[in-house]
Amino acid sequence: MKKIKRWEILTIGCLTRNKFWGEPKEEGVRECLATSSVICTGEANIVVDPSMDPESFGQVLFNRSGLRPGDIDLVYCTHLHGDHFAGIELFEKADWYMASGDCEVFKQDEDNRELLRKRMKPAGDFLIPDRVHTVFLPGHTPGLSGLLFQGPEGRVLASGDCIMTKDFFLNREGYYFDKDGEENRRSIEKAAQLAGIIIPGHGNYFISGAYR
Ligand SMILES: [Zn+2]
Repeated sequence: MKKIKRWEILTIGCLTRNKFWGEPKEEGVRECLATSSVICTGEANIVVDPSMDPESFGQVLFNRSGLRPGDIDLVYCTHLHGDHFAGIELFEKADWYMASGDCEVFKQDEDNRELLRKRMKPAGDFLIPDRVHTVFLPGHTPGLSGLLFQGPEGRVLASGDCIMTKDFFLNREGYYFDKDGEENRRSIEKAAQLAGIIIPGHGNYFISGAYR
């Protein structure tokens, strides 16, 4: 895998409730926000999981990366949950991809806007050959796939909600509404073997190797 040029965190996500902070499972205590990132390979700029409404997300993109919506070539959604594609319509010129295992279900769900159902495409094994690979990490949803790439600092995995935050990684635990908790635990193990740096679904990035 060839090294990419740079990557940036756009939004640092959070959860409505975090059991590792002693918060109750029964009710949320804050608004949910997904973690979003941008991967600049040198050939293409990829936004992963656009997490805010288009107007707010455009400002965040510029603040955190210097890029404008027109600079983005691809958008990738790690799975079919709405907080991971909230800002996708900002990227009119880009190609829109979703994890292949979730994409068909997404396209058939009439709750999703027609434009999105039409334009969303299932990602293959590589988003960019030799640079950005998809990695199947089922459990949170049946078809979730993260993105793996060689950053300037080492191997990085954008895991989506397979790994919610650093605490969930350390405890090898999924979230309370995972479709299959045991399968997700295996996916977390797989993620731990693959990358030294993890961009989780709802927290800041962290060094996974230090905890092995
Ligand atoms: Zn999710």
